[in-house]
Amino acid sequence: MRCRHCDSSLEHTFLDLGFAPPSNAYLNSEDLTKPELYYPLKLKVCVQCWLVQTEDYAQADELFSPDYAYFSSTSSSWLAHAKNYTKVMTERLNLNEMSFVIEIASNDGYLLKNFVEANIPCLGIEPTTSTAATAEMLGITVLREFFDESLGRQFAEEGKQADLIAGNNVYAHVPDINDFTLGLKAALKPGGTITLELPHLMRLIEHTQFDTVYHEHFSYFSLYTVSRIFKQTGLRVFYVEELSTHGGSLRIFGCHQNDSRVTTESVNSMLTEEVSRGLQSLITYQNFQARADKVKDDLLSFLIEQKRVGKKVAAYGAAAKGNTLLNYAGAKPDMLSFVCDAAPAKQGKYMPGSHIPIMKPEMLREVKPDVVLVLPWNIAEEVADQHSYIQKWGGQFAIAVPKMKIFEANL
Ligand SMILES: [Zn+2]
Repeated sequence: MRCRHCDSSLEHTFLDLGFAPPSNAYLNSEDLTKPELYYPLKLKVCVQCWLVQTEDYAQADELFSPDYAYFSSTSSSWLAHAKNYTKVMTERLNLNEMSFVIEIASNDGYLLKNFVEANIPCLGIEPTTSTAATAEMLGITVLREFFDESLGRQFAEEGKQADLIAGNNVYAHVPDINDFTLGLKAALKPGGTITLELPHLMRLIEHTQFDTVYHEHFSYFSLYTVSRIFKQTGLRVFYVEELSTHGGSLRIFGCHQNDSRVTTESVNSMLTEEVSRGLQSLITYQNFQARADKVKDDLLSFLIEQKRVGKKVAAYGAAAKGNTLLNYAGAKPDMLSFVCDAAPAKQGKYMPGSHIPIMKPEMLREVKPDVVLVLPWNIAEEVADQHSYIQKWGGQFAIAVPKMKIFEANL
């Protein structure tokens, strides 16, 4: 296999999580009697450009099925994050009714609805039918396609280049990263701004976030690698900030190479930090598997122990992270009787691979579990605060990543 960005031969494995079904392939009860498709889940690192990437197996169109169930609007902290982004960008870039904003992977309109409310013209690009339909009901125009260079060129030809192109957590999901970036370049107005939010590989390594690895997540980036891809495409990263979302993300600001805005010190300072944390040393990548295995082993020991002493354990949050973790650990319904999730689209279904049933959060009050394992650790406090009532019957919360921890809600 060759590097998706620089075409070098990929010789080094960063992480091998065995085989797993696509993390969003939730099952209906009738699917439980059918065979399930598993793909190898393995990451390689390129020692030329340091892009960490999944091995090629499944095609994007197979993984993003039309009933793909993730709706961004189900997380209140994510909604607040999107609203704040809109406000900050509108002020910083002086966006108004003459501007044009494009969001790639606009999901259910969680972000663009804020631009619609502010009378700033915008367009969403979203190939997933169910979420696109929800966005359209909010008055957002949605183009139901995958973004690529040819679509970017089409915008340029039609005079629809954007003042702001937003890509929040889409860059990592793109199989052909060079083609996608060429599309960004083509769709960007002279003087326009691109912002990309992406989980930072430096934090993934630091906090052993191996459960953020899944098939649909093709690339794992350092700022160094993004800068390199931008440069090759005629774009330039001129500013970067760190965000707490997804356990540590970067918001990268890009412009055309020849833009009059100078590159700020934030870029150089992050590039230096990445080097000092070993992101350009192969040994850093080679040490990661053992650390991921320890997290997995500790979770498994904990679940086995709870089962032995007769305690009931439930999980919260039927998200992709949970699927990676549970499938790698081999957890089954005998250890985790159910997962609850606030998204109605997932309730009544089963987790892929582990076949753990997904139920309404109200089930916690009925079943009264002794432990609630919060799978999306990035919103663990939010979940604990919302469901602090479990502490009335002595229930406790737990997370497995970055390490096994029991905790209580901040009341
Ligand atoms: Zn490479």
